[in-house]
Amino acid sequence: MNGDSAHHAYHVGPKGRVFKRRPALPCYDSPPQTRVPRDLLDAVSSDPDMQLVASFQVPRSDGRAFRVLKGQLCRFVVNEGSQVGDVNVWNLHNHKERFYSGKTRQLHASHLTAYDRLWSCMPFERPMATITVDTIAYGWDEDGAGVHDVIGTRCDPYIHERLTGKSHGTTCHENITRAIKPFGLTERDVHDVFNIFMCTGFDPKSHTYFAKGSPAEVGDAIEMLAEFDLLVALSSCPQGDVSIPCGQPVPDSVTFPLLVEIRQPSQATLQQYFAWSDPTTSLPSLPCADEQDAAPLVERDGLGAVLGAKGSEAPKRSDSGTLLLGQ
Ligand SMILES: [Zn+2]
Repeated sequence: MNGDSAHHAYHVGPKGRVFKRRPALPCYDSPPQTRVPRDLLDAVSSDPDMQLVASFQVPRSDGRAFRVLKGQLCRFVVNEGSQVGDVNVWNLHNHKERFYSGKTRQLHASHLTAYDRLWSCMPFERPMATITVDTIAYGWDEDGAGVHDVIGTRCDPYIHERLTGKSHGTTCHENITRAIKPFGLTERDVHDVFNIFMCTGFDPKSHTYFAKGSPAEVGDAIEMLAEFDLLVALSSCPQGDVSIPCGQPVPDSVTFPLLVEIRQPSQATLQQYFAWSDPTTSLPSLPCADEQDAAPLVERDGLGAVLGAKGSEAPKRSDSGTLLLGQ
C-alpha cells in the first residue's frame, strides 16, 4: 500500500478499476515462537565462559561449508572490507531439512536482525537458528531498504549467461555447490539464501527489487545460535558489496573475504535458553506424505555415519566437534 492510497477509502488500479480499500492485516501476527526471550538469548551470546571453537576465513569470491553444533554461535564478520555473504543452512543429520527463506520472511520480515529466527522447510518448519547479534541494526532507510535480506536469491551462472550472453567465472551458487560436495550434497541441495550484509529493498513505485552498496564496515558482524546441529555454507559473494549492478564486471579490489567464528557458550547458560526453546519436537507428518521426506528429526548421533557414507572426502573433526574443510 503506498502513502497516497493509505488515506483514501478506494484504490484505483492502473487500468482505472476502483477497489474498495481493505485493511492490511499481518499474515502471522508475531506468534509466540517468533518472540525469543531476549534476556535468555543475550545471556547466551554474552556468556563470560564462552570458548572459541574455530576461526577461519572464507576467501574472496569463494565458499566454505562447516558444522555448527546445537548451542554453538556462528559469527560472520566483515574483517577486511565491505562484503556481502550468501548463507545456506541444513540439518546436519537430514539434509532434506533446509532453510526456508520464504516462510522466514513471512514470520519475521524481509530483512532479519537480532532475535529473528531462520526457519526450516516443510514438513519440519521449526527454527534452525536464532540471530543473537547484528552490529549494523540498519532498520529501514528512506528508500525502503534493509540489511540481511531474505527476499533476494543467490547469484548464479545460468541467469548471468541468459542475460549477458557471457559465462560467469564464479558465482555464489557455484561457491556453495563446491563447498557442500564433501558432505555428499549436490547443486540441487543449494537453496534460497540468507543474504547477510546485503542492502536491498523494493522500489516503492515499481516494486522492483534493488540493491545498494552494503553499509557494512570492517568490524561489523552478524551472529546466530544453532537450535540444533547444522551444516552451514557461506559464499563471499563475487559481487563484493553489491554496489555494481549485476552483469557488470566487478574488480577484485572491491571483493573481500569474510571471517567466520564459531563459539561455544557454557552448558549452564544454554540449558536455560533451551528450556524455553525446544526445536526438537517433531510434528505429525501428513498421511499423504512421502515417508522418507517426513523422516523423524535426529539429534546429535550418527555424525560419522552420515558424513562417512556420503562424503567424497573424509571430513576432519576438531575435539569440539566442529568440522572444517578446505583450509
Ligand atoms: Zn553472490
